Amino acid sequence: MLEIKNLKVSFHAYSGEVQAVRGVSLELKSGDILAIVGESGCGKSVTAQSVLRLHDPAITDYKGGEILLDGKDLLKLSEKEMQEIRGKVISMIFQDPMTSLNPTMTIGNQIVEVLREHEKGADGKKISRKEARERAIELLKMVRIPNAERRMNEYPHEFSGGQRQRVMIAMAMACAPRILIADEPTTALDVTVQAQILELMKEMQEQKGTSIIMISHDMGAVASIAKSVAVMYGGLVVESGTVEDIFYRHEHPYTRGLLDSVPKEGQPKDRKLDSIEGTPPDLVKPPVGCPFADRCKYAMKVCKDHMPPENALSESHRCSCWLLDPDCPQPRLSLKEYDAKEGDQNNG
Ligand code: SF4
Repeated sequence: MLEIKNLKVSFHAYSGEVQAVRGVSLELKSGDILAIVGESGCGKSVTAQSVLRLHDPAITDYKGGEILLDGKDLLKLSEKEMQEIRGKVISMIFQDPMTSLNPTMTIGNQIVEVLREHEKGADGKKISRKEARERAIELLKMVRIPNAERRMNEYPHEFSGGQRQRVMIAMAMACAPRILIADEPTTALDVTVQAQILELMKEMQEQKGTSIIMISHDMGAVASIAKSVAVMYGGLVVESGTVEDIFYRHEHPYTRGLLDSVPKEGQPKDRKLDSIEGTPPDLVKPPVGCPFADRCKYAMKVCKDHMPPENALSESHRCSCWLLDPDCPQPRLSLKEYDAKEGDQNNG
């Protein structure tokens, strides 16, 4: 449905050209929920926002690649053609709903405006304000805003953070988009509200068939909603696969680090969580080899000198790490085998 091929995006900053995305390829299948995960600055939001071309053109360079929607390259469309796609075909919700809501308009009027812009009556004309209002109340009820009729007349600041995010989902639903991009939609919310928002997104996918790209650094949220996952590091996708591939069969040391830093069920409360030592690479001068080499306990000489090739581990599972390459100077071992060998050596 949506295919990102070898996307390269740079920004011009005081320090130089930041190569934020350095050749990302991803595929969103119809009805899929694809999670893009990784630390801040790994390029996940830049990749997703490039789909809607939301970056300031004065400082952004799309240096290469394609973003294909039904075979059309979104990077080549005019601004007018992109306006037709934003909202109607692809909608986006952000971490902070206040950045997208108008603080001077009631919630009801904002949803009515969106509906009148996007929905046409049987005669092909804009639906009436009365019809749009009824539909807006229905949408607020669908996203479980209590007393929807009354709350239509309230302003964004009268809603809690979780309710504002639900309003954003209602507005996204109002456009009935084929694709929803959710950029860290639950980061600012407490755990119970997070679960409700994720459940709503899942319902949107199941009931309306919306395909979803969710950007997150929260592996717990990803596990509960995603069908496929792409792990990004240093402006690249380092591992991708189904949610089972990533959670149960991951092979990239960075993916393992991300998963080790999540609390596990039954873990003692006083146990310290593992963290990944070190900092991500400077993308003004990105490394020539594996971007994770400086932080990776498995790093070999080849890792620093050469970019690891992508290895297909199954039809769905891809991983870019020298450990998996048949030409790797060291014998081909899985992470578990490496750890077992290291344990034996330490014990010996
Ligand atoms: Fe570690 Fe080398 Fe694999 Fe990179 S390529 S993740 S440095 S083992």
